[in-house]
Amino acid sequence: MEKEQDMTGQVSERPTDFIREIVREDLKTGKYGGRVNTRFPPEPNGYLHIGHAKSICLNFGIARDFNGLCNLRFDDTNPTKEEVEYVESIKEDVRWLGFDWQERMYYASDYFSVMYDYAVQLIRMGKAYVCDLSPDETRQYRGPLTGPGKESPYRSRSVEENLDLFERMRAGEFPEGACTLRAKIDMASGNINMRDPVIYRILHAEHHRTGNKWRIYPMYDFAHCVSDSIEKITHSICTLEFEDHRPLYDWFLDQLNVYHPQQIEFARLNLSYTVMSKRKFLQLVDGGHVRGWDDPRMPTISGLRRRGYTPGSIRNFCDRIGVAKRDSVVDMALLEYCIREDLNKRAPRVMAVLRPLKVVLINYPEDQTEELDAVNNPEDPGMGTRRVPFSRVLYIEREDFREDPPKQFYRLAPGREVRLRYAYYITCVKALRDEKSGEITELHCTYDPATRGGDSPDGRKVKATLHWVSAAHAVEAEARMYNYLLLKADPDDVEEGKDFKSIINPDSLEILSSCKGEPCLADAKPGDRYQFERLGYFCADPDSSAERPVFNRIVTLKDTWAKVEKAQKGK
Ligand code: ATP
Ligand code: MG
Repeated sequence: MEKEQDMTGQVSERPTDFIREIVREDLKTGKYGGRVNTRFPPEPNGYLHIGHAKSICLNFGIARDFNGLCNLRFDDTNPTKEEVEYVESIKEDVRWLGFDWQERMYYASDYFSVMYDYAVQLIRMGKAYVCDLSPDETRQYRGPLTGPGKESPYRSRSVEENLDLFERMRAGEFPEGACTLRAKIDMASGNINMRDPVIYRILHAEHHRTGNKWRIYPMYDFAHCVSDSIEKITHSICTLEFEDHRPLYDWFLDQLNVYHPQQIEFARLNLSYTVMSKRKFLQLVDGGHVRGWDDPRMPTISGLRRRGYTPGSIRNFCDRIGVAKRDSVVDMALLEYCIREDLNKRAPRVMAVLRPLKVVLINYPEDQTEELDAVNNPEDPGMGTRRVPFSRVLYIEREDFREDPPKQFYRLAPGREVRLRYAYYITCVKALRDEKSGEITELHCTYDPATRGGDSPDGRKVKATLHWVSAAHAVEAEARMYNYLLLKADPDDVEEGKDFKSIINPDSLEILSSCKGEPCLADAKPGDRYQFERLGYFCADPDSSAERPVFNRIVTLKDTWAKVEKAQKGK
């Protein structure tokens, strides 16, 4: 972070990193005529995830910080895996994160004709040839990392023959796999990407935008640099695995002698306890391990949104993790910290009981109800107060009572007095149990009318304050409690021959279907967020009905990140 002072003297924090340093320098030297134009180039083959959020915040953030532009470009060069549904979800997610591509939404497929012409140009220059090696042979000829590859026997075809064959590839005369168009670079290059890479392959597939117009499709490395060039991108920011592809990016644009952006690589985001790839998420969805792309356990943007994450908390997370050149794994606890920090300031507090235990106040008048004042948010007095009904029969949390309390358990137990939040002191006089199951079904307690509001006039101290809900006024609700998707922090920590699916957490979702909430929760609309006192932050799910709200637990109240940070500092 760096501090910046604006004209009014206000100091704000803005992220800074090595990429912004490069941009700043380029602006100083006038490298692109003072322009900054980045792009976010997703392949529409799945829903976006929090890793993409890092890239979105970086690309759109740089455009914002330097008065530049950021394009949204669908990298739709692989017709077999791409769908319109994904295009729509990507647009929704980028917008939801708070970014705007204005009128600059493009598709790589819009440039297929230009790409084709450029490929013809390379053939004319003697820099590309049609190769009849099979995919397997092509791989063999490419050679090992440790030694040179072997030149294809088709490498010396004449320009005329190549032009003719390439035209016939395009016309659909050959079956898939029969041949490819390859760049003629260097089969002995130490960089395997430079060993005559494939530029075009034959695919008899229908494209979601170009239909059946094309029988050949460009490969990523060719399509990407050409698209960047056409859009006059200045800084083409991508993840580290493309570092070895940069010489090829530069080679194509140098050969074609066209506008040439600068590729810059940064480390991708990895998060603990989850995988981070559309391909793997698709396996989770198709395998029925989650309920869909927007399952609140998924680190997809749509999953985080449904879970209750705010766009601001995700942007804040992306600022905090920063941008580096070395891969690392970010602790999930940091993401949780960011939403906690955000919601602490703005989520109204309410009382809800997840696992109810009935309490009868035997000395409270049977037909009496009163309303008690409760604070909506102690962090923000401006959020005011509300009235919560109280009556003779209540629910408390089952785990707030122990018949044989161990040491350190200060909550309710036979003969013990505790405070009910905003209400009264109560003392447990008897626990009733079901004879068959042995389970405790009901508590009989007395209340002290002199402690109304939760304070004792005689200064009597109690060691615990419990949340509660009046039974007669309770809203029935469902709560969905989420845990990590994986049992291990490292998704690669699996037995030999197995993959991440072998360490899926079987308890990643627990459904509590008989929760009781205070009356105001009847008005909860999907997307509304609350702090359930003592339990965590919750968000109303679209599955909610008028009779029965459903709440996703966003995060618990315990801050594990503070602990992690402390431990890291202590190292
Ligand atoms: P996935 O493996 O999930 O499909 P991808 O890299 O193939 O990811 P793209 O749609 O090609 O997905 O990515 C669009 C942009 O987002 C690219 O610029 C890519 O570098 C970036 N990106 C993808 N994953 C991450 C990540 N984990 N962290 C940061 N940026 C990412
Ligand atoms: Mg990809």
